[in-house]
Amino acid sequence: MGNPRRQARGWLLWFCLIGWGVPATAQTLSLARLDADAPAGEVVSGQRDAGFAAARDGVIFEPGSSPRWWRVTSSVDVDAALQPHLVVRAPYQNRVELWTGDGPPVVRGLFGEEADLAFSARALAFPLSDGLRAGQPLYLRVVTVGGTPMPLSIEPLHEVHRQDLEHVAWRAMVLGAMGVLAVLALGFCIGLGERSYGFLALTLLSQALFLALAGGELRSVDVFGHVLGSDPRMSRVVGMLAVIASNTFLAFYLDLATRGLVILRVLRACNLLLGCLILASLVSTSPLVPKVGNLVLLVATAGVLFASVRGTLRNERPAFFLLLSWLPMMLLTAARVGELLGWWVGPAWLIHAFPLGFALAGLVLTVGLADRMQQLRRDRDHASRLAAQDTLTGVLSRTAIIEQLQREVDLAHAQDTPLSVVFFDIDHFKRINDEHGHPVGDQSLRLVATRTRGKLRKRDFLGRYGGDEMLVLLPDTTFDNALVVAEHLRAAVNNRPLTIDGRVIDTSLSLGVAQLAAGETFERLLERVDVALYSSKSAGRDRVTGDLFSQPGDA
Ligand code: GH3
Ligand code: MG
Repeated sequence: MGNPRRQARGWLLWFCLIGWGVPATAQTLSLARLDADAPAGEVVSGQRDAGFAAARDGVIFEPGSSPRWWRVTSSVDVDAALQPHLVVRAPYQNRVELWTGDGPPVVRGLFGEEADLAFSARALAFPLSDGLRAGQPLYLRVVTVGGTPMPLSIEPLHEVHRQDLEHVAWRAMVLGAMGVLAVLALGFCIGLGERSYGFLALTLLSQALFLALAGGELRSVDVFGHVLGSDPRMSRVVGMLAVIASNTFLAFYLDLATRGLVILRVLRACNLLLGCLILASLVSTSPLVPKVGNLVLLVATAGVLFASVRGTLRNERPAFFLLLSWLPMMLLTAARVGELLGWWVGPAWLIHAFPLGFALAGLVLTVGLADRMQQLRRDRDHASRLAAQDTLTGVLSRTAIIEQLQREVDLAHAQDTPLSVVFFDIDHFKRINDEHGHPVGDQSLRLVATRTRGKLRKRDFLGRYGGDEMLVLLPDTTFDNALVVAEHLRAAVNNRPLTIDGRVIDTSLSLGVAQLAAGETFERLLERVDVALYSSKSAGRDRVTGDLFSQPGDA
């Protein structure tokens, strides 16, 4: 381990280097700003030079929407042989004019007539075909739609292209991933009928659309390119819709209706405000709209962060997944929003990290949602298992054995296979209760269930029909074989007394047997086997009686 202070300094340097990611030339660019929209002639001729105030090096930041002049000077000569370009990064919907003094300006924007589609939407590139001498001023007239910082540098053409290719690769990957995840989520929504997937799909789609609109990927589509060139409202509306969709999804995913009513109300209030801002966007292009929108986003982000931390501390899995997916994105969102509000200028990679954060979050949330579905399915299976099971004996419940009987009757009719049933009842069971108490009666029921279950095949069914009555289903079994099985059941109980808490209890079963007749309903079969059981009772108990109509030839 090295010296921690030196290590920290090393990290800081590394962060600055990759963080600012600005080519060496940018460090030599000095910027000054004229706080007026003076006539171009006066500015370019140098008459207004005294009015320019020095600004932060390397970054143009215009908080308002009125056009302003910026003067750029390099402290070193820039060789024309390198085909240098003045590069204005992250322009979004801003427009920049480069006035060199000879004739009309070069006007560049990502959208509309001013777009130069030979370069990616990463930056606006102005060729400096004559190079630039140290101290020679370049005048830029900057028209912004409301304050996003634009880092500035001079790069040789090959470097501009290299970074453009890198930018396009990043964006294609991230937007592609978000599109695929959205389609997947939509498929799950339709396939599983699960609404939350629908909200996730909507969130991902609107986020991807927002990124592609604001980032300029859709500018070659005529309608987007031209409308966006003159009007920032479309991406604002889509951006706010994305936040509304995401708030709705998260409220649903975190189950805030039962676990966090206060946060749910905060998110609903945020959505209401955003709805109003969307309406306001339709009639106004004021930069106040995105500023308020960003503040609402910050409040919603804080609410979601709070809910997910609290949920994680309470061991709630969706909250944990959300925290895992959103923590990097929330930090990046806060950093980005701070940047958009003009509080600071983030590192260059933020432009990739931000959409990447969205894509990663979408991925982890898709996994998280699958986990939630799995959990719901487990809970449902558990509940239906509980409903299907008799809690005292562990055999099928009355409802479950009757449902199974219906299924087996249908199957036997459809496949023309034999189906037999055995119905039995414990003899003088009341006496066991009376003499030994109810708990011993319960235990006797359990033992009878265990002993009889042990005499059946895996594919047979045993269910507690009620009290001390049990029903056995014997698929693929003829009447004669069912009589044999019934004898085995009787023997399993009466050949050895039950031993419970040191008490020895003699007990026996009375049984009825019947085979399903052609076209017979399950109700009728039950009636016949019940009659057979009561024949055993009246004939003296501890015996098997076959139903008369189940003799071979009748089936
Ligand atoms: P028979 O030989 O005619 O069947 O006489 P029996 O005493 O077994 O009479 P019957 O089958 O009509 O009565 C069943 C008794 O089982 C009545 C009820 O008190 C008792 N019983 C029903 N469910 C339970 C239970 O879950 N636990 C216990 N310990 N007893 C039960
Ligand atoms: Mg009984």
